[in-house]
Amino acid sequence: MNHWMGKSALERNVGVRGDADLDAAWQDAFVLEVDDQGRFSAVGSLPVELSPRDGRRASDILLGSFDGRPWFARPVLEIEQGDSATWREVDDPWQAPVASAVALVRWHAMTPHCERCGAATVPDAGGVRRVCPSCGLMVFPRQDPAIIVAVLDPDDRLLLASHSAWPSERMSIIAGFVEAGESLEQACFREVSEEVGLALDSVAYVSSQPWPMPRSLMLGFVATTRDLTVHPDGDEIAWGRFWSRSELQQALAEGEVKLPGSTSIARQLIEGWLVGTLPRPD
Ligand SMILES: [Zn+2]
Repeated sequence: MNHWMGKSALERNVGVRGDADLDAAWQDAFVLEVDDQGRFSAVGSLPVELSPRDGRRASDILLGSFDGRPWFARPVLEIEQGDSATWREVDDPWQAPVASAVALVRWHAMTPHCERCGAATVPDAGGVRRVCPSCGLMVFPRQDPAIIVAVLDPDDRLLLASHSAWPSERMSIIAGFVEAGESLEQACFREVSEEVGLALDSVAYVSSQPWPMPRSLMLGFVATTRDLTVHPDGDEIAWGRFWSRSELQQALAEGEVKLPGSTSIARQLIEGWLVGTLPRPD
């Protein structure tokens, strides 16, 4: 089981949000610089705290408590402390606070105006929301749902496809954004049909993962199909095919196929299939 499927290592402290609480939390805080592209201060892939630390700013975001200390994200134009890394490079357990830091900093950067009246909004309650001084609207962070689906054929082979923008050996499973008014399952049927021309029979939810690049929530599914002929759309998908476990293991060993990074839900689903723990939905 990966860490996204259990209790978060980040305690979000949603009740501790007044100015006095925030000032008290600041005294002992781990402060992480994050730029609006989602990079954060790091040595290698380890988060590095801002030191020396100046006073708390209105734009500083209280993420919660991690490893016994309050964590704040500080939005910056440029990382000044150490090198920088992206949240995808971070290992568990730091992924939890870093994913929240990146998601919140990018959301604040992308949401400067009120969606109702257009006035400039300001951060509130330690950065968990923004408020509009003109009309009073409270705005909370948004996430865009996206599905990612492992498609299996009747012989339990897995569909892998290569995106047009990728090197041809890089392969993954099918993914796409959920459209307005659509269910997650409907999005699975539609995306697989659009991208590789396959009709699904059944679909079942497996697990989820935040993907704050900039603000997706990836919802992982497994599906079955009886269609065996892959028709890449030629736009998003350049090519794809079904693989048996032994075929894929051999291709991986010979470097003919490269899989998504080890922290991605795509990789988790593919590896779950490889070791036989991904449940078939039928
Ligand atoms: Zn407003």
